Amino acid sequence: MNTPDAPLPSPLGFPPEARAFDAEAFAHARGHWEGSFALAHLPRLAAACVGLASNAPLHWQADGETRAAGDGVPRPALRLRLACRLPLECQRCLQPVEEAVDVDRHFIFASDEETAAQLDEECDDDVLAPLHGADLLTLMEDELLLALPPVPRHADCRTPVDAAGEPPPHPFAALATLKGNTNNATD
Ligand SMILES: [Zn+2]
Repeated sequence: MNTPDAPLPSPLGFPPEARAFDAEAFAHARGHWEGSFALAHLPRLAAACVGLASNAPLHWQADGETRAAGDGVPRPALRLRLACRLPLECQRCLQPVEEAVDVDRHFIFASDEETAAQLDEECDDDVLAPLHGADLLTLMEDELLLALPPVPRHADCRTPVDAAGEPPPHPFAALATLKGNTNNATD
C-alpha cells in the first residue's frame, strides 16, 4: 500500500519541474501550468473514492503570482485551481454519490519555516516554506483531501432502506445490472 511519504509517480504530461518547483522563479515569471489526469494517480484520494470511477479526470491549473500575507510584504505565491467530480460513498444509503470538489486557493511562500508558521496564523491563505522544492502534486492531493465533504450524501436517497427496514442493496448491484451480468450467485 502507498503511504503518504511514498513518492507519487508523475501522471503522464505532468510538468517534471512541478515536482520540486522553484516558487520564487515561478512567481517572478508569472508561470502557468495546467493539465488533467486520472484521480487514480493520487492514491490517498483514490482510497476515499468508491468503485472504478477513479479514472475520472482531475483538471488543474497553477499560476505564479506575488501576494502579501499579513505583514504586507509581497512574496512569491501560487494560485492553485482544481476541479473534479469524486465518486464517494453516500453515508446514508452506502451507494456511490458523485460530489463536485473544487479548490481555488492561494499559497504564499516564505523562506523559512518559522516565518511561514507566523504568517500562516494571521492569513487566510496558506503560507508555506521553503521557497524551493515543494511538490505540486502532493500539494494538490492534500488540498483535495481537505476539500472532501465530511459527510457525502445524496440530496435524496432513493432506496427503500428507511421505509421497509431492509438492508441497503450491494453498492455494485446496480452496476452489475447495467453490465448485463445477471449471474449474482458468484462474487
Ligand atoms: Zn444516498
